[in-house]
Amino acid sequence: MIHFHPSDDALARLAAGTLEAGPTIVVRTHVEGCPRCAAALGRFEAVGGTLLDAMEPVAMHADAFAMVEARLDRPAAAGKATRSARALPANGPIVLPAALDGLDIGPWRWLAPGVRRSRVTIPGAPGADLVMYRIGPNRQLPHHGHAGAEYTQVLSGSFFDETGHYHPGDLVEADGDVDHQPRVGPEGECICLAAVEGRMLPHGFFGRMLRPFV
Ligand SMILES: [Zn+2]
Repeated sequence: MIHFHPSDDALARLAAGTLEAGPTIVVRTHVEGCPRCAAALGRFEAVGGTLLDAMEPVAMHADAFAMVEARLDRPAAAGKATRSARALPANGPIVLPAALDGLDIGPWRWLAPGVRRSRVTIPGAPGADLVMYRIGPNRQLPHHGHAGAEYTQVLSGSFFDETGHYHPGDLVEADGDVDHQPRVGPEGECICLAAVEGRMLPHGFFGRMLRPFV
């Protein structure tokens, strides 16, 4: 049972192709396993298509359709990549979500006692801050905040902090003001996929167009 979902804002930006590359993968991982969010994403995509249809042709950049379609197609195209050709690195016990297909997943590296991290590289977005964390049972992470919104999808195990108790399938969306200290549950290690959104990327033409409607 999934209790925590991405915000409508995140789903709308995913539909419009304006969500950053790292958060896009995290939210797509959630949508993969959440019929409710898959339906919501479909509605946002339909709204975007309707807006495009309603636009005056002269108001559009000649390449606008191609630009938007390229953005919308990109995650889908990535999803067709070679999933079977790759296994979870090191001693990973989980089945990787399809949203990670075609991405380069690094080895587990020690980060702190009981905490390991695997960096996930997205083709075309080498600067994206996308990582998997693997944290031992009952381990507590240092108190921390974020520069931008943080998206965390629980893949296995559980963790809790001041804002809730999160289980597999849950997506935790914490804005930059959240200062928290997650602790993993006692039932076993927790594996999460996480990305932090930077503040540097401009929102695209489609995002500006969609914003008044969401
Ligand atoms: Zn959901």
